[in-house]
Amino acid sequence: MNQLRRSVIINRLAKAAKVTGISMLSVGLFACADDSANKNVLTVYTARNEQLIRPLFDLYQQETGTEIRYITDSAGPLLARLKAEGANTPADLFVTVDAGFLWQASNEGVLQPFDSEILKTNIPESLRSTQDDWVGLSLRARTIIYSTDRVNPEDLSTYEALAGPDWNGRLCLRTAKKVYNQSLVATMIKTLGEPETESIVGGWVKNLAAAPFSNDNQAMEAVVAGLCDVTIVNTYYYGRMKEDNPDLPLAVFWPNQDDRGVHVNVSGAGITKYAKNPVAAKDFLEWLSKPEAQYIFAEANQEYPVNPEVEPSELVKSWGEFKADSVNVEAAGRLQAEAIKLMDRVGYH
Ligand code: FE
Repeated sequence: MNQLRRSVIINRLAKAAKVTGISMLSVGLFACADDSANKNVLTVYTARNEQLIRPLFDLYQQETGTEIRYITDSAGPLLARLKAEGANTPADLFVTVDAGFLWQASNEGVLQPFDSEILKTNIPESLRSTQDDWVGLSLRARTIIYSTDRVNPEDLSTYEALAGPDWNGRLCLRTAKKVYNQSLVATMIKTLGEPETESIVGGWVKNLAAAPFSNDNQAMEAVVAGLCDVTIVNTYYYGRMKEDNPDLPLAVFWPNQDDRGVHVNVSGAGITKYAKNPVAAKDFLEWLSKPEAQYIFAEANQEYPVNPEVEPSELVKSWGEFKADSVNVEAAGRLQAEAIKLMDRVGYH
C-alpha cells in the first residue's frame, strides 16, 4: 500500500474517532433487551486488545451507522461467559487471538455457521474454520529469532534442527503453558506425527539454556543478553522491540522453507450461536476482510493481512517473504490437548 493510500486511511480513522462515540458495555446494559434486538447495534466480545480493534469499530460505525458495543477480556473468561449466558447473551461476535481458542469456541457450541462468498474469496481456506463458523482476520508467524552477534543464519534451517547437538545450551523458549507454543506443537503433530514431534520437542528441552520464559519478549531479551542464541517468537513481538530499538542485535529467520513452511496462526472471529444480529455480524466480518480494514487490522500490531491481495506494513515487509505452513490452523485447537500432554511428557513446562 502506498504512502498516499496510508495517509488517506489515517485521516479517515482520525475523523471516525472524532465523530463516533463507541460504547463500552457495562453489565447493566445487558438488561436492555430492546437495544440488543436493534438491527443497528452489534455487540462484540473481544479478547483482542481494545487499542488494536477500536479504530476499526470507529470506522465501521462511521461508514455504516451500525453502533458497536463491546467488552474486552481474555479469551478464556469470554468463552466461559458466552457459555454461561447461553441464549441470553447479548454478544453477536466473538473476537480472539489464536486458532486454538477459535476452535474451542466452535467445539463448545457457542458459534454458528455462516455462508459468505466474500469471506471465502478474501480469506484462504487454511485460515478459516472447516465448519464455516469462524475466520482468521490477521496472520502472525511464529518463527526463529537469532542473535546477529553469535549466529550465522546459514547455520539455521528448520524448527526440527534446533533439537540437534549444534544448539545445545543455546536455545531459549517461552513457556509451554501459553497457547502459542501449544499451537506450534499441535500443528507439528498434525504434519509430522506424534513420535517424531515428541523427539523434536524433547530435543529442544535438552538444548534449553534456561528455564522457559513467561513471554516472547523475555525470551528475546535473553538472546540479547547472551544467555542463549536463538528463540522462537511471534513476529509482532519482534517488530515492536525492533521499532523501539532499531539497533537490536536480533534478526528474523524463516525456517522450513524447503518443506512445510513457517508456523502461522491467526487472530479471528466467529458469529455467536445466539447472535441477535447475525446479519450485521456477517457484514462486519466481510468488511474486515476487505483491503482497507485488512491493512489497518494487521498494521496496528505489525501482523500480516490474511487477505492475500493486501500487502503488510513497510516494517513487516522488511523481514522478507516466506512460505507459510498451509496446514489448516484449526489443527492447533483440534490437537491442543495432545500437544499439552506431549510437552509435559518431555519436561517442557
Ligand atoms: Fe501475543
